Amino acid sequence: MRNRLRFLILLLSAGMLAAACTGADGGDPGGDAAGDGSYPRAETLFTSGTQWGPPSNWNPIMNWTYATGTVGLVYETLFLYDPLTDEFEPWLAEKGDWTDDTTYEVTLRDGLTWSDGKPITAEDVVFTVNLGEMESVPYHPLWEFLDSAEAVDDLTARFTFKEPRYQQWANWVYFNPIVPKHLWENKSEEDVTAGANEKPVGSGPYLYETHDQDRQVWKKNDKWWGKEMLDLDVKPTYVIDIVNTSNEAALGQLLQGGIDLSNNFLPGIATLVKGGYQLQTYYPEAPYMLAANTTWMVPNTTKAPMNDPKFRQALANSVDVGKIVNSVYGQIVQAADPTGLLPIWDKYIDKAQVDRLGYSFNTGKAKRLLAQAGYRDTNGDGLVEGKDGAKIDLKLATPSGWTDWNEAARVIAEGAKAAGISVTSETPADTVVQDMRESGEFDIILDNQRQMDNTPWRYYEYVFGLPVHKQQTTVNYGRYENAQAWALVNQLDGTKIDDLAGMKAISSQLQRIQLTDMPAIPLWYNGLWAQASNAVWTNWPSAEQGGPNYLPTMWRGYLQRDAIKMLTELRPAEKK
Ligand code: MG
Repeated sequence: MRNRLRFLILLLSAGMLAAACTGADGGDPGGDAAGDGSYPRAETLFTSGTQWGPPSNWNPIMNWTYATGTVGLVYETLFLYDPLTDEFEPWLAEKGDWTDDTTYEVTLRDGLTWSDGKPITAEDVVFTVNLGEMESVPYHPLWEFLDSAEAVDDLTARFTFKEPRYQQWANWVYFNPIVPKHLWENKSEEDVTAGANEKPVGSGPYLYETHDQDRQVWKKNDKWWGKEMLDLDVKPTYVIDIVNTSNEAALGQLLQGGIDLSNNFLPGIATLVKGGYQLQTYYPEAPYMLAANTTWMVPNTTKAPMNDPKFRQALANSVDVGKIVNSVYGQIVQAADPTGLLPIWDKYIDKAQVDRLGYSFNTGKAKRLLAQAGYRDTNGDGLVEGKDGAKIDLKLATPSGWTDWNEAARVIAEGAKAAGISVTSETPADTVVQDMRESGEFDIILDNQRQMDNTPWRYYEYVFGLPVHKQQTTVNYGRYENAQAWALVNQLDGTKIDDLAGMKAISSQLQRIQLTDMPAIPLWYNGLWAQASNAVWTNWPSAEQGGPNYLPTMWRGYLQRDAIKMLTELRPAEKK
């Protein structure tokens, strides 16, 4: 068995694109990395795919780097949000309501305690929101529109808004964890936003057990409130998240039953799912994975000829996305809708408008668009020159080692060339590409952002965000300036979350601008990479009717998107 697996792994590696961030080689990928015997295997859940270095902080405020599970297993949020059903579920909160247009009140469940036994009160909620007044706290922008936070009584917190941004607030209440005031109130800003927060004290179903260079170990909290109040019980006694060395190593561990859930990008997994290795993905067929975020081609709209919307449209029509989906990804991703809105936001897509204005791979149309806009091949080399006759040679930068993106970039360059646009793929180091996109010193990049969230406002904030700064660090890397679009984005933010018709109307106007002007060109949806082994645990989330239908991932920010429920549904595999 072992030899056969090893052979299989080699075979796969050879044909497989090494994924982003591949570091060490697989070595003996089975090894003992995931099972040193100190924890009963049948009671332990092994995960991987989130952590790319040794766990070094347990600080829930550092939401891009905390040890896997810090938020979700230990620190909890007021609500959960399920992207698959578009529903909020009260979690630490019993309820939350707008009592008038500018006042929101949240009521906590009665009888919640921190893992040190102290009660969880409205003071903790107010304290956590107030931390956002520190500029380096990621949710500092909340205070642009929040006026005050106060505890009305032990269980009720009241928030008064200068300007209600309903969409953004709805996002806040499920994304950001509540921290205990009694342990955090004496921390400096430095400590709050950059401290390791060793031995974290939270409210969730797991407790810190230990960690090492290669793993994070959590142990079940038998006193978790959810058992009694929700009749929910997490099944594994231990959750051990293994630090990634390479995606190939993760694949080896998965095949040998050393990892139960891999959230790594494993190209070639489609073959294995069909091959009887007790592996499963969310969908049993293509696209196998849920769509987690959108990958765009981002042209720098401050540089000619990318400053011309007609040219950007031609570029959009030149890309053979089907080839990227099939050849580069082996069908584990899906082509994006021309709006780029994720499948979970399908109800916001104005389909009639997309039929009129949308684009698809069509080299002839790309050529016509170029000709109509005045781009001609004046020197007979088969490639168009600029309107002033200057040579066009655009550089498309993707990070070195991100081989799926490097391959996709080659497909894009090939399609552009067929349409008469010279695009050259280049692969600088990851950090260099980051600098390029932040400083605006690039022609074209690929970018993927904006996860499965409660509101398309999050998506449009990325595409249209203003003002454009000299350094763009989080949104609108293409530096597209359209004040009308940005006003619509803010109008969307100020729309109540139950006003679906209002959200759709504004979203439709934003789609028209996006499809006409092409500030960012949606290409495919990056998958919520997830492959589960049924060797030790079964009943994994799946699209099948009647099964547990949650997001099968440990990625940061996702346990509060209902993925925590996955742990309450797992069942031990039957002994063979
Ligand atoms: Mg030419």
